[in-house]
Amino acid sequence: MRTLLLLVLSMVTVVREVTAQDAQCVLERAAMVETIRSYARSHVSVLGQQGLSGRVLEAMGQTQRHLFIPERSCSIAYADMPLPIGAGQTISQPFIVALMTQLAYVAPDDVVLEVGTGSGYQAAILAHLARKVCTIEIIPQLAAAAAKTLKDLAYDNVSVRLGDGYAGWPDCGPFEAIIVTAALGHVPAPLIEQLKLGGRLVMPVGPAYTTQQLTVVEKTGPGKTTTRAASLVRFVPFTRSPD
Ligand code: SAH
Repeated sequence: MRTLLLLVLSMVTVVREVTAQDAQCVLERAAMVETIRSYARSHVSVLGQQGLSGRVLEAMGQTQRHLFIPERSCSIAYADMPLPIGAGQTISQPFIVALMTQLAYVAPDDVVLEVGTGSGYQAAILAHLARKVCTIEIIPQLAAAAAKTLKDLAYDNVSVRLGDGYAGWPDCGPFEAIIVTAALGHVPAPLIEQLKLGGRLVMPVGPAYTTQQLTVVEKTGPGKTTTRAASLVRFVPFTRSPD
C-alpha cells in the first residue's frame, strides 16, 4: 500500500513538472511569435503593410520548434535564431521560416515541395498550411530523424524522401509552391518545371558561405517566369549528390 502511494505521488510530481514545462514552452513560443510579428513590421518593403498573414503566424504558434532540435529545450528553441541540428546543418531562424512561408503564399489545398528537410521544422509549418507537403533531404541521418519526428507528431500530410533535391520530386507534384532552404548560385530548372502556372518558388540564390538574395520566382506562363529579390539571407550550401 505504501509503495503504491509513493508511486502515485512520484507520478503526480512528474505530471506537474511536465505540465509546468509545457506551460513554459507555450509562453516562450508565444513570445517568439510576437518577436516575429513585430520584426515583420520593419520589413514593409518585403512584406507590405499587412506584414505576415494570420495563417502563417498561427502555424508558427502551433509548431513545437523545441521538438525539432537536438536539445529539445524550450529556452533555446524559441529564441529568434538559427540553431545547429547536427551534420553541420542548421534549423533556420524562425523569422526567416515565417518570411519564406509568407512569400510562398500557401493555400489550404496546395501541394508544396521543400528541398532541404533538415530538422523537419519548415515542413511542419507548411503541413499546417497546405494539403500535402513533400520534402527532400540529402543527408541520410537528418532525413531519418526528421521523418521520425514528423511521424511521432502525427504530421500525416508530410512525406520525407532521401536524395538530391535538385531534380525535384515529379511524382509528388506539380506544386503550387516550392521552398528551397539551402543556397545555390542558380534556381534548378527542374524545380521551375514542376511549378504549376501561378506557382511560387522561394529560395536563397547566391554563393555559399556568404549572404544570398532570398529570391521569389513566379511561374506566369508556360516557360515564363518573373523573379524578384526579397531580402538578404545567409543559408547553408546546397550540395549535389555525386551521381
Ligand atoms: N528546412 C530545414 C533547415 C534546412 S538547412 C529545417 O527546417 O530544419 C538546409 C538543409 O538542406 C540541410 O539539411 C542540407 O543537408 C539540405 N540540403 C543541401 N543540399 C541539398 C540537396 N541537394 N537536396 C536536398 N537537401 C539538401
